[in-house]
Amino acid sequence: NNLVIAIDGYSSCGKSTLAKGLARKLHFIYIDTGAMYRAVTLYFLRNNIDLADEEMVAGALRNIHLNFHSRDYQTHILLNGEDVSEEIRQMQVSQQVSEVSALKAVRDEMVNQQQRMGKSKNIVMDGRDIGTTVFPDAQVKIFMTADPKVRAERRFKELAAKGQNSTLEEVFENIAHRDYLDTTRKESPLSRAHDAIILDNTELTEEDQLQFALEKIEP
Ligand code: C5P
Repeated sequence: NNLVIAIDGYSSCGKSTLAKGLARKLHFIYIDTGAMYRAVTLYFLRNNIDLADEEMVAGALRNIHLNFHSRDYQTHILLNGEDVSEEIRQMQVSQQVSEVSALKAVRDEMVNQQQRMGKSKNIVMDGRDIGTTVFPDAQVKIFMTADPKVRAERRFKELAAKGQNSTLEEVFENIAHRDYLDTTRKESPLSRAHDAIILDNTELTEEDQLQFALEKIEP
């Protein structure tokens, strides 16, 4: 049987860093589900999709084809063949993504694709609803949290390093906004699966976190 490691948690908690580290160590495939919702959001923004118009949303979803390309454990996501990995990290996308991901039609389609990707392969998947909705039977579930201020500072540094000029305040606001929408939406809101291990990484290094997770996986 294939193994699924589900990593969920709040925005900018270091989920993808841990997930990538685990995938590299265990030779698993890493799937960033946030990138999928972000790519859908980018398409919606580019094509002025009205979120209240169900027909328009359904039509847009039929025209969206997502693919992952993995090079050296750096994930590249293709939106209809175009590599949008950089563009989906822009603040404009971050500000819309939680509204888009709250739509049932969007979630149904993404969850479906995610379940297919993890059907027969060993995967590490990170997101908000992986351990609760996408793979409720995942063998390993980790729920990540960290102090919101520390999260904002980490994210701010990351964006600054990429040359994006959002202020620390904007980043903090955006994280708080997404956490609020993600935990209060109707369709599979962000919550800890009852059998998920909690990992608060406010004061842990990346190496500490990897060790912690590996101990849970290979006891
Ligand atoms: O993981 P990341 O922060 O890039 O995700 C961006 C947004 O996509 C989240 O704030 C959330 O609104 C949405 N998302 C989701 N379900 C997932 C992954 C991401 O709703 N499994």
